[in-house]
Amino acid sequence: MEGMKVKDMVNILSYGQLVKLLKDLSSGGHHVRNIVEHRIQELEVEDRKVCAFCGSPVSSNDSPYTLLFGSKDFRKKASFCGLDCMDSFNKNLRLFSQRKLEK
Ligand SMILES: [Zn+2]
Repeated sequence: MEGMKVKDMVNILSYGQLVKLLKDLSSGGHHVRNIVEHRIQELEVEDRKVCAFCGSPVSSNDSPYTLLFGSKDFRKKASFCGLDCMDSFNKNLRLFSQRKLEK
């Protein structure tokens, strides 16, 4: 995929897909934007190899202390260097969602 340009991507789409794409772009391109945003989020999550709480490097992506949270459309993955950090993060998350509910 490296070095592939938008033009190349357009070239591999079928006529029907192009018509749909044009329709979406003409109406503001929301669908395309969603797809691109979603992919960027996925890549950012894959890249994150530091503890989500203290920022220390986490050895691998399959750390035993990994949390998946968020809605279906916005899934976040957080890795932690240890149980302490995961605990603290959980507490913060709970406080945060409580504050959101109180509003
Ligand atoms: Zn940590």
